[in-house]
Amino acid sequence: ILEHSEQGGWRLVSPDAQATKDAAAALAPLLCAGDVVTFSGDLGAGKTQFTQGVAAGLGIGAPVTSPTFNILLEYHDGRLPLYHFDLYRLDDASELEDVGFFETVEGDGATLVEWSEKFPEEMPDERLEVAISVAPDASRVLDVCGIGERGEALARAWGDRLSGHA
Ligand code: ADP
Ligand code: MG
Repeated sequence: ILEHSEQGGWRLVSPDAQATKDAAAALAPLLCAGDVVTFSGDLGAGKTQFTQGVAAGLGIGAPVTSPTFNILLEYHDGRLPLYHFDLYRLDDASELEDVGFFETVEGDGATLVEWSEKFPEEMPDERLEVAISVAPDASRVLDVCGIGERGEALARAWGDRLSGHA
């Protein structure tokens, strides 16, 4: 189910965890070094499930777990390195430097960021934003929005893939 929203973004209703992983896996082939996906959404929304789908789509075989306690977990056994941040436990934007955030987003892989909404000012200018919310029937609503030229291109290409146009 794919609906287009006002700002050129689009919305997907995901009925279960597998559907979220499948949608995320369809994004994986489009990702290039330096691409960034920022998530917003409450605890349990499905951000880590989404990341697992991207990892599967990149051919990563290692189990992808939540980086809540590590802040950053990285995977190097796929088509592209995958960097998975969870900023939940950071208290201050100055700590982003300490955990290597700015180097990583400019680096050799794709970076996925949970709890990006804590530090909106620090997020890169070019990125794909995925806001996940839980609907009353417990399905998840994914609101996708591309920021900057690269972000918009990713949002468009991914939406096309999901709606069968590419
Ligand atoms: P987060 O990283 O956002 O805190 P997780 O991805 O770790 O959340 O957990 C999401 C939980 O919600 C999982 O237990 C998953 O099975 C469940 N779930 C139920 N429906 C969905 C859905 N449509 N998409 C993603 N996860 C879902
Ligand atoms: Mg998580």
